[in-house]
Amino acid sequence: MVKKALVCGAGGFIGSHLVKKLKEAGVWVRGVDLKYPEFSPTAADEFIIGDLRDQEVIKTILDQPFDEVYQLAADMGGAGYIFTGEHDADIMHNSATINLNVTFFGHKAGIRKIFYSSSACIYPEYNQLDSDNPKCSEESAYPAAPDSEYGWEKLFSERVYLAFNRNYGLPVRIARFHNIFGPEGTWRGGKEKAPAALCRKIAETSDGDTIEIWGDGKQTRSFLYIDECLEGVRRLMDSDFIGPVNIGSEEIVTINQLAEMVMEIAGKKLNIKHTDGPLGVRGRNSDNKLIKQRLGWAPSQKLKIGLAETYNWIQKQSQPQ
Ligand code: NAD
Repeated sequence: MVKKALVCGAGGFIGSHLVKKLKEAGVWVRGVDLKYPEFSPTAADEFIIGDLRDQEVIKTILDQPFDEVYQLAADMGGAGYIFTGEHDADIMHNSATINLNVTFFGHKAGIRKIFYSSSACIYPEYNQLDSDNPKCSEESAYPAAPDSEYGWEKLFSERVYLAFNRNYGLPVRIARFHNIFGPEGTWRGGKEKAPAALCRKIAETSDGDTIEIWGDGKQTRSFLYIDECLEGVRRLMDSDFIGPVNIGSEEIVTINQLAEMVMEIAGKKLNIKHTDGPLGVRGRNSDNKLIKQRLGWAPSQKLKIGLAETYNWIQKQSQPQ
């Protein structure tokens, strides 16, 4: 029997890559999203344009006991979207409604396994004040104090999935993604994240020009390339571990260092001007002890390799057609 999967958020960055991976593995895939993937045609066998906040849509797409459901749909974006405060009500209401619908109707449909993408943004701000020593081990999520409503919604929804698992035996797998990046991700328009934004700024300027970076650039993060993210998801789905577990890289860099790396890839030397902007926590890094312990694996590819792939793709996009 051919395995059947439903991918919610299949028009998004991670969802569209995931659909490709599932197809390569011979899975029959139904994708759902408000929109088609932006940068290449979907690989899904069936793609439904629909709003997952709408219960009638959910009932239609969950018309069978899928072997695997991947719930990636969320109202989200980079710091320029989630940290300004302007989108808080939408972020919380839209994403929570999707997750409440998917758990309730997924359970009713008898789905066999469901993956939920939570985020590193659930971790308490008080553990991420020191850029050199952020603490993001899974158990440190409580007492909860995320620094954004986006993080609070993710934490709430993790609990919804865990409650459905506890009370109704819904087989859930929960991962907390840490800054996933790669080709075919949003690279302009306000929802892009730091790696894509820097690649764009550097691709669009010439040697000796000046680019802007929000804050002093000494804030730290780690970034995980899309292929490794999907490998982690596959391994989690194939295991009997529910999670939540971090899927991220432990290669911590400052945003200034990230900019330097992109400049090296681009072969350009630019000046950096630090400006005010939405920042998020001071430091963040994945902690991969648990994933190593439970799945015997953790991402290990060097940041620069994925960054070069991403830069080359964005550079092509940014050239006048
Ligand atoms: P994305 O924004 O590219 O994809 C999300 C998709 O959900 C979009 O295509 C969007 O149209 C769709 N969507 C939103 N509301 C919907 C609705 N009401 N009905 C149907 N579809 C709807 O984001 P992504 O980077 O691919 O992230 C996928 C998931 O992983 C999200 O849940 C995100 O919160 C989580 N995550 C991502 C990262 C990251 O670094 N990219 C980090 C942590 C967590």
